[in-house]
Amino acid sequence: MRMAHTTHNVDPAEVAKFRTLAARWWDPDSELKTLHDINPLRIDYIDTRARLAGKRVLDVGCGGGILAEAMAQHGAVVTGIDMAEDALNVAKLHLLESGVQVDYRHGTAEQFAAQHPAAFDVVTCMELLEHVPDPSSVVRACAALVKPGGHVFLSTLNRTPKAYLLAVIGAEYVLNMLPRGTHDYARFIRPSEIEAWARHAGLTVTELTGMTYNPLTRRYSLGRDIDVNYLVHLQRAHD
Ligand code: SAH
Repeated sequence: MRMAHTTHNVDPAEVAKFRTLAARWWDPDSELKTLHDINPLRIDYIDTRARLAGKRVLDVGCGGGILAEAMAQHGAVVTGIDMAEDALNVAKLHLLESGVQVDYRHGTAEQFAAQHPAAFDVVTCMELLEHVPDPSSVVRACAALVKPGGHVFLSTLNRTPKAYLLAVIGAEYVLNMLPRGTHDYARFIRPSEIEAWARHAGLTVTELTGMTYNPLTRRYSLGRDIDVNYLVHLQRAHD
């Protein structure tokens, strides 16, 4: 039954990982550095496709607000939801420093979808799907939250040997970019899986874009290589 699902699609161990990191969300040299590094790329990606100014946006799994604040700075009216209270507290505190407005709430996408169906022009859910027990349920919730004709943006890690090598062994063990145990390979998601879940939920994948890291320049860039990190742009059909 859907209700049972809505309250249980959370892995407490995963949320705990982000709770302990809470104080470091806004330290660009912390374990969360990667999120700061990729932020300009993904903001540009979203803004080019969905024109953020004036749009109602929901950021699912917003953490400390790195993406949510940047979208608000681009003129969007942003709500951010997350299951880690400590991260939300940091996000709220940071608003005082930045002077940006974001409405932060505690909750899951499934809970929010039941309360606010078709309420948002844009729904973003980045670097979250690989941390939940049932990612297809989150994709369904995103589809329910977005207005007909609206945009959904997802990002996650592909389940390929290359992703295991680069995102787990490379990033966590060789380069020490992420704390060990950040990512569980079994939870990585193939684009074809997202495509199938999206189709069932009434969303169409309009674009898949790779996000690659060059360890020599220490920079990320967007491109065709979707073997490791990738972004997905989806749209809900007009009524
Ligand atoms: N989306 C942000 C943060 C990614 S980190 C960004 O890309 O910058 C993943 C976040 O998902 C953490 O803040 C964690 O607390 C949150 N999270 C994990 N499981 C969740 C769930 N079931 N519902 C909502 N948020 C969840």
